[in-house]
Amino acid sequence: MSDDVRRPLIAGNWKMHKTADEAREHCLRLRAAIGNEPDAEVVVCPPFVALSPALEALVGSQIWVAAQNVHEAPSGAHTGEISGPMLTSLGVRGAIIGHSERRAMGESDAQVAAKTASALQYDLTPIVCVGESLETREADETDTWLDRQVRALLVGVRPERASALVVAYEPIWAIGTGRTATPEMAQDACAHIRAVIDGSHASELVRILYGGSVNPENAAELLGQPDIDGALVGGASLDPDGFAAIVEAA
Ligand code: PEP
Repeated sequence: MSDDVRRPLIAGNWKMHKTADEAREHCLRLRAAIGNEPDAEVVVCPPFVALSPALEALVGSQIWVAAQNVHEAPSGAHTGEISGPMLTSLGVRGAIIGHSERRAMGESDAQVAAKTASALQYDLTPIVCVGESLETREADETDTWLDRQVRALLVGVRPERASALVVAYEPIWAIGTGRTATPEMAQDACAHIRAVIDGSHASELVRILYGGSVNPENAAELLGQPDIDGALVGGASLDPDGFAAIVEAA
């Protein structure tokens, strides 16, 4: 498992699922299923409008709450966007940044870096997603692709803040498809990401997660790899018992 400095982190990305009432109910069930002292750090990432009910249902628990996106500016004329200070003032502690579903809508490497910088400035843990398409993998260009995405996001991270950074390796072809990367593939990519980070930041402090069709059955083997410090879980995080089983595997 990971070095002691990198506590395993299991994050649930709910995407555009769950109303406010469903979020409250889910979080109450999750905290009962996980208990008071989970071995891993546990995070839920509800849609913006379900952040408050999730936070209320999790008061006094070890589970923390992150958003699924954050704007790079603290305020301004950005209709429909949510900023870092807005999230921090609610009690939100992190944000997913650069998910492939957002990159597919046009989010650029430069925006990902700016959002990462802004998250760190407002004391949010950035969970920054990187990962290649099937086409890129089949062309044997995964490492080059990851080099570019990782170097670009690091522009937003001062080296002394490296320990606050979380990177999620999410191969696009494994997201929501039921097609998981093998533990060896995931380990190779995460080790590569760590080596790239090492060029400018203290990579032994950065937690690197794997994401892509993680479920209670495949979690233990993936999480047992030396450079995988946790998981970003989509579909399987929507059921509190299934998500708790993944936390247990960590
Ligand atoms: C995700 O959306 O970040 C994800 C990993 O989804 P899934 O677990 O459903 O593949």
